[in-house]
Amino acid sequence: MTKKIAVLPGDGIGSEIMEQAVRVLKALDLSLDIEYAPVGGTAYDLHGHPLPPATLKLAQESHAVLFGAVGDWKYDKLPRELRPEQAILGLRKSLGLFANLRPAVLYPELANASSLKPEIVSGLDILILRELTGDIYFGTPRGIRTATDGPFAGSKEGFDTMRYAEPEIRRIAHLGFQAAQKRSGRLCSVDKANVLETSQLWRDTVIEVAKDYPDIALTHMYVDNAAMQLVRAPREFDVIVTGNLFGDILSDEAAMLTGSIGMLPSASMNASGQGLYEPSHGSAPDIAGKGIANPLATILSAAMMLRYSLDSDAQAKRIERAVQLVLQQGLRTADIFEPGTTKVGTAAMGDAVLKALN
Ligand code: NAD
Repeated sequence: MTKKIAVLPGDGIGSEIMEQAVRVLKALDLSLDIEYAPVGGTAYDLHGHPLPPATLKLAQESHAVLFGAVGDWKYDKLPRELRPEQAILGLRKSLGLFANLRPAVLYPELANASSLKPEIVSGLDILILRELTGDIYFGTPRGIRTATDGPFAGSKEGFDTMRYAEPEIRRIAHLGFQAAQKRSGRLCSVDKANVLETSQLWRDTVIEVAKDYPDIALTHMYVDNAAMQLVRAPREFDVIVTGNLFGDILSDEAAMLTGSIGMLPSASMNASGQGLYEPSHGSAPDIAGKGIANPLATILSAAMMLRYSLDSDAQAKRIERAVQLVLQQGLRTADIFEPGTTKVGTAAMGDAVLKALN
């Protein structure tokens, strides 16, 4: 069956990196219907909105969305709802993308890019699954008011509401267990159940869901300890599942362990397996149009798309092996270059991955 893919290159380096990812996808023996649409600042320039109705419709009708990056300083003066970044929020909301998957992989060849010692971090391969649509970021009531009680009565106070409903926890927990089944069979749920009621419900619910996955070894960790263990012994982790706030922080921490933002893919998924796949980095306006951007995060995002939305794990692995091979061959874009390796541009890196596929 032909699978429909919406390709949204976006702004800055978006079109350069996307070109390479699409070349890789087209080289696989898959029946894909690839359709392009503008998004972000590019869409604003063309249609007066960062997420035009036709782009949204295409995304909704597709099995998966491959997204480049959006944003440029030149749009900073636009009203918030017309800024390029609103396109991502609009897509997340309308597609119901409640789960964010961020792998942090440090290829042994790039171990020197990390701020941690190579012997601690080399070969790191973890997956952080972050709930994306609930928690303190969306809970109400929230606001700034005058405190009516306590030692600071009469002063201004800010307040937010951390909340999770059981079904929200349940659905992200299921994805966590299923991701663990595709990897090493270990899942670590991160919460703050010693202090927060929301976290207590989180933990109870995850334990309940675990009954459906007797093949998975489930552990629990408080978020402060998890933050510490990620820098102490990051390779002890495999799949981490956590809420929106904790996941926001831990996934950035894990990404930085690898030291190379140009290498990190990400996915946001809904309950029916439809997903939006994008590099973790932004549109890098400082290097746009120079042909030097690293396309590997986008190519690896395409691999994630094959694994999680298109049921093609074998093809995903084929891409990941090809990326590893070009690193072993010593090819590096400027962002990951070090003396003794060979510096290449965006297109040459794409050429090398294509060659390594076979
Ligand atoms: P950025 O990730 O675009 O760039 C940070 C630094 O990393 C820059 O020096 C850039 O040159 C470099 N870099 C990023 N990706 C690279 C790649 N593939 N190859 C080589 N170098 C790379 O972050 P920023 O500069 O803070 O933001 C730039 C724009 O991107 C802003 O408008 C921001 O809002 C937007 N942004 C978009 C997304 C997204 O589309 N999901 C995410 C983050 C930032």
